[in-house]
Amino acid sequence: MNSDKIKNYFSNPEQTPLQQIVDDIFIEKQIKLYIKRDDLIDAHINGNKFFKLKYNLIEAAEKNHSTLLSFGGAYSNHIYSLAYAGKKFGFSTIGVIRGEEHLPHNPTLQFAKECGMKFYYLSRSDYRKKYSEEIISKLKNTFGDFFLIPEGGSNQLAVKGCSEIPGRFQIDYDYVFCACGTGGTVAGIIDGSPKHSKVFGVAVLKNASFLLKDISKFSNTKKSDWNILFDYHFGGYAKFNKELMRFIKSFEQKFNIPLEPIYTGKMLFAIYDLAKKNFFPEGSTIVAYHSGGLQGLNGLIQRNLWRA
Ligand SMILES: *Cc1c(COP(=O)(O)O)cnc(C)c1O
Repeated sequence: MNSDKIKNYFSNPEQTPLQQIVDDIFIEKQIKLYIKRDDLIDAHINGNKFFKLKYNLIEAAEKNHSTLLSFGGAYSNHIYSLAYAGKKFGFSTIGVIRGEEHLPHNPTLQFAKECGMKFYYLSRSDYRKKYSEEIISKLKNTFGDFFLIPEGGSNQLAVKGCSEIPGRFQIDYDYVFCACGTGGTVAGIIDGSPKHSKVFGVAVLKNASFLLKDISKFSNTKKSDWNILFDYHFGGYAKFNKELMRFIKSFEQKFNIPLEPIYTGKMLFAIYDLAKKNFFPEGSTIVAYHSGGLQGLNGLIQRNLWRA
């Protein structure tokens, strides 16, 4: 396995723009909002998934693994990026997918399949115990040896990669916001942020209180200035309403920056809502982390849940 090729690719990420969002509410409250456009880092390995995969792929190559296996839902941005990375760097990839197979494949899995990924479906109840010895040995019997990357890519190697995110902002900031699924990305951002900056994760799942414990475990610093906002999930993972849809459409129109309603739309909605509620002191500088994930829109469009 060519670990030099992987190192070279991941050590030279695109220097993506940090765009200021000049909107009435921020002028009125005298605060500055910037958005870090890591959705532009790469067409297929983008946003936070670039940083989550970085050290996982280097480790897999250095340990001479030729097969990567990971877990995700049928619309997972992580599965999508992993499949592409496997093709790009010459790994075989296996996606262990939650739920039953649906044919034809949705756009996410169709792309993954075109990249050469093999799928293995687990019922929802088996998926809950996906890391159990029983399931893992079943997977080993089926696929042989593999390098396991947890669901959403979140492990210590992912956190290490994500700790490199804030260094790329190139400005001093008081607050940084990031959408939060498993919490691996926010843990890395906590580790990589200066002491005086506050880190907020916006939970996109309902009943996500597990995040507080998981992020404390993932994060390697004792930095205490972080918190998770639990009130912006809009009903749960991939759930949204007309209000969020309108917000996203209007934001896209004003600033020509694409969002989606699963992660980044909820995160920006939270920032606007907090600004309205005078949460940020005058003079504050806020960075919103655009973690990518726009491929997820294709599945929503296909199901007529979203208009492009
Ligand atoms: C995966 C993903 C997240 C969540 O990252 P976690 O590390 O699981 O919290 C946030 N935004 C986007 C666009 C994602 O694809």
